[in-house]
Amino acid sequence: MDRFDVLVVGAGPGGSVAATVLARAGARVALLDKATFPRDKACGDLVGPRGVQLLTDLGIAIPTGCRVGDMVVVGPTGRRVRLPSAPGTTYPGYGISVTRTVLDAAIRDAAVAAGAEARHGRADQPVVSDGRVAGFSTTDGQVILADHVIGADGATSRVAAALDLVDLTAVSWGFALRSYAPQRVDLPTIVFVETGPWRGLPGYGWIFPGPGGQANVGLGAGSLTVRDGAAAVRALPGFVDRLRREGLLDGSAPQGRRLGGWLKMGAVGTVPARGRVLLVGDAAGLVNPLQGEGISQAMASGSAAAHAVLASPGSAAECYAAALGGAYQPFLAIAGGMHRSMARRPSVVAAVGRLVTAPVLGRAIAGGWAIFWNDLLDGAPPSANRWVARGALGLGKGLVGPDAARRRQTPPHAAARRRAHDTGIAVGAGVKPPPADVPVRRGGS
Ligand SMILES: Cc1cc2nc3c(=O)[nH]c(=O)nc-3n(C[C@H](O)[C@H](O)[C@H](O)COP(=O)(O)OP(=O)(O)OC[C@H]3O[C@@H](n4cnc5c(N)ncnc54)[C@H](O)[C@@H]3O)c2cc1C
Repeated sequence: MDRFDVLVVGAGPGGSVAATVLARAGARVALLDKATFPRDKACGDLVGPRGVQLLTDLGIAIPTGCRVGDMVVVGPTGRRVRLPSAPGTTYPGYGISVTRTVLDAAIRDAAVAAGAEARHGRADQPVVSDGRVAGFSTTDGQVILADHVIGADGATSRVAAALDLVDLTAVSWGFALRSYAPQRVDLPTIVFVETGPWRGLPGYGWIFPGPGGQANVGLGAGSLTVRDGAAAVRALPGFVDRLRREGLLDGSAPQGRRLGGWLKMGAVGTVPARGRVLLVGDAAGLVNPLQGEGISQAMASGSAAAHAVLASPGSAAECYAAALGGAYQPFLAIAGGMHRSMARRPSVVAAVGRLVTAPVLGRAIAGGWAIFWNDLLDGAPPSANRWVARGALGLGKGLVGPDAARRRQTPPHAAARRRAHDTGIAVGAGVKPPPADVPVRRGGS
């Protein structure tokens, strides 16, 4: 039996960032993962600007990968719009494309270099002592005790399920698959897909720059509260044909292992923290329901959970939940509501896809659209595009109904929100790894 200050379950970006911040501050950390690293993970391999900033702030260098800036969106009728990327006050004007084998191993290596103890094993059951969670056992018989447990074990989190922190009937699920094709891609491209006339898929297909001159080709779709990946699996072959028709993919078929994974979106159906347990990243359901990004949120929430444990060990859960709610709720409540209401109406998805890629309107809103759906408004410098993004947020609020959106999320308790503010716990890029008593400020707010 081993004793640690913190047990981090899951060594993806969220868990490894949490372990890095904790270990650098002197905490004794166990970083447990069921996989042997380096390991692959289904992904579009794009890290957004906030994630790039956070890696820079933490001083974690990614050995390979390339910068990506503007993105092309292809509408259902083949019309194209170019979404410009622009730097904000708290993030750069680009993301990076890097395989998960490389990215996740680099962050995990940083955690181990800082002193975290890497463990191999599958978390199974919580260890409860005096009515409190005091660690986890693994399926191979290890018992790892810790004062705090950070659940960073992805969308189907065992930590969340075992501790009853997730209501599977209230989660907003998505499923996505990716494979690689031997083709160079200059600009990441997103394609709105229809499964029949005027039947828009509640998701999209993509062809992104991949490793070694390859293309990362994939498709994802939301399935709301039903954990069902059939729509994405069914739509993928037709999407690959469409890429060829659009001239985006040459004759070569996608190669290699097709890998799929669940997306847990919009922070609904999950209690992010309770007692001595904090959930981060996909375990907390932080994926952006509009475009599927989750790496940046995983790393930012991992960092925030670590800071909460360091700065306020007695009330880390409350402080963390409040910081998380403050950082993500304003956007996710609206984006999640928009996603939920559109996913039930394929004809509306098709209409919106046509509208936003229409020649004049598409060009006029492209800059604001890029800010809005990538959740980059906080930190975007004053510009016409910022006003468009603000307008989109306001429109979304109007369509969704602010109360309906808010009711579906766990409201952070006012006192905890105050404590999070007082101790300086924040979520987001610009957060520096602090000693325990140094206030942390969220960049750009
Ligand atoms: C096909 C696809 C494409 C995507 N594309 C993008 C993209 O381009 N950009 C982007 O930002 N996001 C993308 N996402 C979302 C992104 O992959 C996730 O949001 C991100 O990986 C979340 O990081 P995490 O650290 O929370 O969890 P994960 O990266 O899922 O890591 C969880 C870790 O926990 C481990 N684990 C699980 N259960 C246990 C257990 N019981 N015991 C021990 N260890 C356990 C796993 O082995 C894993 O290493 C995509 C998702 C999919 C499915």
